[in-house]
Amino acid sequence: MAWIIGRTIGRGSSFTVSLAMYSQSGEVLAVKSVELSRSEFLQREQRILSLLKCPRIVAYLGSDVTNENGQLVYNLFMEYVSGGTLTDAIRQQGGRLDESAIRSHTQAILQGLDYMHSRGLVHCDIKGRNVLVGQNGTKISDLGCSRWVGEQPPAMPIAGTPVFMAPEVARGDEQSFPADVWALGCTVIEMATGRPPWLDVADPVSALHRIAFSSDLPDFPRFLSEEAKDFLGKCLRRDPTERWTVHELLKHPFLEEDCLEQLNLKRIQSSISATSPMSILDQGIWESLEESETEKEEATPLHMPNQLELVSSSNSPAERIRRLIECTPSSSSPTPRLPDWTWDEDWVTVRRKNHAEHVVCVGHDQTCMSPTDQYAETNRSSYTHLIRDEEEELELLGRSSTTVHYSVNSSNFNSSSQRLVYIL
Ligand code: ATP
Repeated sequence: MAWIIGRTIGRGSSFTVSLAMYSQSGEVLAVKSVELSRSEFLQREQRILSLLKCPRIVAYLGSDVTNENGQLVYNLFMEYVSGGTLTDAIRQQGGRLDESAIRSHTQAILQGLDYMHSRGLVHCDIKGRNVLVGQNGTKISDLGCSRWVGEQPPAMPIAGTPVFMAPEVARGDEQSFPADVWALGCTVIEMATGRPPWLDVADPVSALHRIAFSSDLPDFPRFLSEEAKDFLGKCLRRDPTERWTVHELLKHPFLEEDCLEQLNLKRIQSSISATSPMSILDQGIWESLEESETEKEEATPLHMPNQLELVSSSNSPAERIRRLIECTPSSSSPTPRLPDWTWDEDWVTVRRKNHAEHVVCVGHDQTCMSPTDQYAETNRSSYTHLIRDEEEELELLGRSSTTVHYSVNSSNFNSSSQRLVYIL
């Protein structure tokens, strides 16, 4: 079916997501694209998404390959979810959600997970940024890391975002249904506080060690109700066999207040911008098609996967964590997907690309990313040069074998806040 592309609405570290429209019907959709030669993970996501049909999971609409200026591009079509990510929603609500909103989103995520788990599928990367909020409710998205339980050998190595990882995942032992439950608990903390867990740890690498090997749990927000804290306690159990299942959690008293939930859903829906385009009649988004085409040319897609993968091999857990930190390619994953070192929205993460001489600057989200975009394709020496240029702005905080931590006065990045830079 013929379609036209609109403006970019999101950019993960791997793919570009654009608004699009079927030419004939005027139906608006979201299209996730990447060069065909690098589309292995997107094609995998397509295969999984095409098997699912659940109102709590972003709907699959099709796929195709297009030729853009001589370059073949793989496109995955999905329903367009107009309200942005759950992380955006948290920010829009002043940095944290009230308990009835948390309850409503949590129930929706659980329903989506229940559907996936009942089909033997683990999402593997539940977090606010992978949950979309729309007029038709809250939906799980980004199934790029999902895996079938019991696949032999597993088609996907262990994957995810470090601070949302369950202990058994951080150790590289296993990644099954309970890992999604742990990540959901972390997402509840994100909704309640506006921050992922483990922020009292100095950096994501230390967090990973702590998650994997200590007996600690993330801090539960003290202001939550007893029901909410009890719910968290059932999600965040270090032993995966002791964690409640998604099915059990759906019956937890925290989720019982149905009326409140309905009211809250209505409130969420009405707070979603009336300008959310749903059809060709909502033309605001199309008026700058030319602009978006320019934007598309100018914006350098980062196309760098942000999740971490490590192969569960016979090596010791400590060795696996070391490999994880060093992003060593695994035999079953020739193109390694690198860790999402996202830690705090005020931090900029600088990561080594697959090609050793390149560095890429990636922010927590698009707002953060755009000021650093201009450096996205600079090589290591020019980035070092950039830092040297701004030396008076930098304060060396510490070094580890893999990272150098600077506090940077981010006037460099057109913002007044301090940012922390990692050089891996
Ligand atoms: P990641 O870096 O987490 O791997 P990714 O490259 O796989 O990301 P997604 O997380 O799926 O890409 O999408 C990137 C962003 O695009 C999302 O955070 C969201 O803002 C936007 N987006 C994705 N899918 C949709 C959709 N169906 N409707 C509206 N916006 C979407």
